Amino acid sequence: MSSTMHRFENLRVAMPTLHGKEKIISQAFSAWQWEVVALPVDTNRLGTFTGEVERPADPLATAWMKLEAGLPHAAGFDLLIASEGSFYPHPEVPLITLNTELLVLRDLRNNRQYQAAHTDYFPLSVREQVNHWQQLEDLAARLDFPQQGLILPGVQEKSVARQYLKDLHDMDALRQGFEQLQKHGAAIWVETDFRALHAPLRQSHIAAAAGRLLEKLQCHCPACEEPGFGKTAPLSGLPCSWCGTPTRLTRSWMHRCEVCHHEVEMAVAETAADPGYCDRCNP
Ligand SMILES: [Zn+2]
Ligand SMILES: [Zn+2]
Repeated sequence: MSSTMHRFENLRVAMPTLHGKEKIISQAFSAWQWEVVALPVDTNRLGTFTGEVERPADPLATAWMKLEAGLPHAAGFDLLIASEGSFYPHPEVPLITLNTELLVLRDLRNNRQYQAAHTDYFPLSVREQVNHWQQLEDLAARLDFPQQGLILPGVQEKSVARQYLKDLHDMDALRQGFEQLQKHGAAIWVETDFRALHAPLRQSHIAAAAGRLLEKLQCHCPACEEPGFGKTAPLSGLPCSWCGTPTRLTRSWMHRCEVCHHEVEMAVAETAADPGYCDRCNP
């Protein structure tokens, strides 16, 4: 273990970000005393949540593209790290928004690459039409604005992509933005600001992804003994404790080595599922 600690301790880490994510990474890896520095890379050109710029690829590919964009600026650093978040409806539960945070890491000393993810609920996600100020004020209070940011769509100009009002840092600014839009008479849709700097819940999800990455870098592969071994995907099918039928609950996790790609399936601690989850005993 001590050799791993040594390998990842006291490193200079570069991160392309415009939204203060370097502080989250620095805190998550405080045990290893990483000095995390934000790189001046315009990550917005790789897509924005509000769609002024379309994302060029799926979230994982986009994360790696961000990392690549930081490469020309990363001379003198040991590690390069990039993050990408996505928000999407829960596949089975309507009206629930999920947030997946991805982190990708390249060790610039040996070109090894690592990745980690965390998915969680994001109940602060809204896209609601507001007709009068009181309605917006109530919504703002419910979402803990201005800690959680809100944005308003700007007036739609002909043949120009919609610009959002994003710098609404307090109630006064929100009200001014709202009144400005009201003058134009169009429907006003208020939306959650998903940028990390303006979304504390998202920051905690990025921190959780960083925790996963730390765990992975602390764990050694049973085949090649290199650090970087961890969970990839859950496998369902934990058997029902009454009838033994496989349920949708997780029975095991695939673990994979990021260095030699060795894979191991590891069972969860529970050996049987509550019959409440069984389609045969509790249809
Ligand atoms: Zn059963
Ligand atoms: Zn390995």
